[in-house]
Amino acid sequence: MLPKSIQKAIDELSRLPGIGSKTAQRLAMFLLRDNKKLHRDLGEALIGLTEGVHYCSACFNLSDGELCGICADPLRDHSLICVVSEALDVVSIENTHQFKGTYHVLHGALSPMDGIGPNDLKINELIDRIKQKLSDDSASLELVLATNPSVEGEATALYIQRQFMNFNFPESKLKITRIARGIPIGGELEYADYVTLTKAMEGRQIY
Ligand SMILES: [Zn+2]
Repeated sequence: MLPKSIQKAIDELSRLPGIGSKTAQRLAMFLLRDNKKLHRDLGEALIGLTEGVHYCSACFNLSDGELCGICADPLRDHSLICVVSEALDVVSIENTHQFKGTYHVLHGALSPMDGIGPNDLKINELIDRIKQKLSDDSASLELVLATNPSVEGEATALYIQRQFMNFNFPESKLKITRIARGIPIGGELEYADYVTLTKAMEGRQIY
């Protein structure tokens, strides 16, 4: 019904997450009406995604070069490593301007139901990185486990903590912490679920 080139664009667009066939059709029609500059800019940006973006060889964050800007920054606290599931989590934490350490991006979370095991994540790379850093006698590190407070995120944090327990690093060398969980800012106790409220109570601090 539609010319092949348009149908192909619709088929490819509908492969994107959150884009159904109707939205793909609308996007294709919009692009068809739009001037050629957007086509060219979009095409170049998409090609740049595969050609210009790498993973940082230290933390596996998205990077333009061998090391990402955070790992290459001598002003960051390299003894503080925040472990997150996704590169977008780095963006969220960076937007707070409160964290001055470095990161380690796992690229997912443990999920046996989806067939995602430890070897599918950058966990071995994290262990190697920590072991290498701690081989310097004067080094001490804090690992902040900032995976999501979901079933998968908790399982991932627990798995990582257990792995490091096997190495018996003294706490003076390696401290493992977990981000706090609790009531969101602007939230109300009345509407908080049982688990959130329990975690908020457990995580209470001196005021
Ligand atoms: Zn990095």
